[in-house]
Amino acid sequence: MSRGTPDFDAYLRTIAQFTDDELIPAEPDMVAAGQVPDGLVQRMAELGLFGISIPPSYGGLGWSMEQQVLLTLEFTRASCVYRSRFSTVIGLCSQAIFDHGTEQQRREMLPEMAAGRRVTSFALTEPEAGSDATNVQTTAKRTGDGWVLDGSKRYITNAHWADTLLVFARTDDAEVSAFLVDRTVPGVSTRIPDLMNGHAEGPVGEIDLNSVAVAENRLLGGVPGTGLAAAMRGINHARLHVAATCVGQATRMLEETTRHVLNRHQFGAPLAELGVVQAQLGRCYSEMEAGRALSLDAARSFDAGTVPRHRISAAKLYCSEMVGRVADQCVQLLGGEGIVGPHPVPRMWRDVRTLRIYEGASAIHERNLGRAMTRSVAAEGVLPDSYRVR
Ligand SMILES: Cc1cc2nc3c(=O)[nH]c(=O)nc-3n(C[C@H](O)[C@H](O)[C@H](O)COP(=O)(O)OP(=O)(O)OC[C@H]3O[C@@H](n4cnc5c(N)ncnc54)[C@H](O)[C@@H]3O)c2cc1C
Repeated sequence: MSRGTPDFDAYLRTIAQFTDDELIPAEPDMVAAGQVPDGLVQRMAELGLFGISIPPSYGGLGWSMEQQVLLTLEFTRASCVYRSRFSTVIGLCSQAIFDHGTEQQRREMLPEMAAGRRVTSFALTEPEAGSDATNVQTTAKRTGDGWVLDGSKRYITNAHWADTLLVFARTDDAEVSAFLVDRTVPGVSTRIPDLMNGHAEGPVGEIDLNSVAVAENRLLGGVPGTGLAAAMRGINHARLHVAATCVGQATRMLEETTRHVLNRHQFGAPLAELGVVQAQLGRCYSEMEAGRALSLDAARSFDAGTVPRHRISAAKLYCSEMVGRVADQCVQLLGGEGIVGPHPVPRMWRDVRTLRIYEGASAIHERNLGRAMTRSVAAEGVLPDSYRVR
């Protein structure tokens, strides 16, 4: 279904209204409770948010990538912690399962995931495998009728309440494979850190795997060695969602801050009347719009066929750096209120800091883009994912 058809426009309006009427007003309660309230998770499931990327044939809404970006721009005007509650389902895990799972695995997992009844976590990162995600140390040893997994994972979103973990482990042939592991099976334990500096209401989890027996039919795709390809499929999807998240967060912070400078009087007039304040707001607005255009353009390229991984990388890099600059400027314009008291902007300032670290730290995107550029120009004379007509 393309943008502009009645069904999608109605759904987009529903999600915008849900954001304004339910998600944003519930932020103080979420902060006080230290977690996303169960009732809101239930509402997200009822509205189909766990299934926006999953095809209708597997119970999801099957929106295009452009539509997923447009939806993300709306629901991430609220705290980005809400999004993290279903992000591991819509981006990372469902795409890996859809593209790399067996038909039996798709049928078993995707409808439950789309309905919000099966939360999945994407368990790739380890103490020795962070930016160098290929350095996975968790092992999967073949037994008579399956596999035994040993190792530990850290910084895993939703790990502590996930139903199923998509665990990346090195199989006997030293290749990385992916396994669907139920969180409650013997040998799996999870815990959350004592302190989160940002994203506090959606803590990441650590996972220990001690001699965890996994059946043969839980190896993703049924073939060892395809784990990194599956991981990258999920990651490329999720990176574009993160780019859009940065734009949604910047939009909210700029709306909040613009309201503040309209109402805050100093030197006998609203701060908004100062030329320097107008210039600061204007610069932030243009950066936010650049990020929005970049995210939507990458999404349209995605929908056109092949995954435009360099454009996605550029969008993720730019948007996550952009939202950091915008957040810092907004805190500055709030003055003391940016540090003291319950204003939402300082909370969002802390939350968005992580967006420059996960789904590839900024330095990794810069390095990967630079390498791709030199390779592509040396081989073909043009930049990677080039718009040039040839
Ligand atoms: C809130 C949050 C949620 C997360 N959710 C998940 C999840 O659901 N699943 C999952 O598997 N992982 C998840 N992660 C992990 C995340 O992907 C890693 O934190 C990230 O890849 C960076 O790895 P690291 O923390 O080990 O940092 P390191 O790899 O130690 O890197 C630290 C810094 O070193 C620099 N650096 C590293 N390598 C290079 C290089 N080659 N060139 C230049 N500079 C470099 C960069 O500045 C980088 O930021 C999450 C992390 C956070 C914070």
